[in-house]
Amino acid sequence: NPFALLGLSPALVRAVSERGYAQPTAIQAAAIPVVLAGNDVLGAARTGSGKTAAFALPLVQQVEGVAREAPRRLHALVLVPTRELAAQVGESIRGLARELADPVKVAIVFGGVSINPQMMGLRGGAEVVVATPGRLLDLIDHNALSLSGVALLVLDEADRLLDAGFSDELARVLALLPRRRQNLLFSATFPPAVQALAHDLLHDPVRIEV
Ligand code: AMP
Repeated sequence: NPFALLGLSPALVRAVSERGYAQPTAIQAAAIPVVLAGNDVLGAARTGSGKTAAFALPLVQQVEGVAREAPRRLHALVLVPTRELAAQVGESIRGLARELADPVKVAIVFGGVSINPQMMGLRGGAEVVVATPGRLLDLIDHNALSLSGVALLVLDEADRLLDAGFSDELARVLALLPRRRQNLLFSATFPPAVQALAHDLLHDPVRIEV
C-alpha cells in the first residue's frame, strides 16, 4: 500500500483505504514522511489538493504516540480562519482518530456560538484542538485549556487567517506555546505578511509546493 510506504501505521492505512483513497495526492506523498520525521513544513497548497489529510494523518499518528505517555493533555493545535473550516478539518481529524485502537481525543472550537458546551467538551482532556484563534483565547482566559504542552502546531490557510484580522490573536496564541515544537504552515498564497509569519514561525522548514 502506497500510504504504508509513507510511514503511516496499519490503522491509518486502513482508514484511508476505507475512505477510498487509492493513491496519496502529491502533497500527501511529499508532506506525510516529512511531518512524521518531525520537520517543520511550509506548504503551498489550496483546497482540493488533499492538504487536510496531508497534515491530519501524520498529526494523528504523532499524537497517538505521545498521548499514550501523557493522556488527556493537549499535544497538537490546529488553527483555522473560519468556523466552517474548523468543523470540516476537525471532523476529518476526528474521523481518523476514531480508527485507532485507543482513539485520540479531538475538540473543535470556534466563535459565534455559546462557549459553555465547548468548555464542557474540553473537560475530558482534549489531545488535539482544532480552533479559530479568538475562541481559543476566550477558552484559555476561562482556564478551559492550556497550551503549555503543545508539541505540534498547524496553521491551515494562513493567508486567510491573516486576512480575517487574526494577526493579534495569532501573536497571543504563539506566545503561549512552548518554544520547542514542530510547526506546519499551509497557505494558498504568500503575500509579505504570510512570508513574515512563516519566517518567524518555522525552523528550517521543508518547502512543499503542489
Ligand atoms: P482537501 O484539499 O483536504 O480539502 O481535500 C479535498 C478532497 O479530496 C476531500 O474530499 C478529500 O476527502 C479528498 N481526498 C484527499 N486525499 C485523497 C486521496 N489520496 N485520494 C482521493 N481523494 C482524496
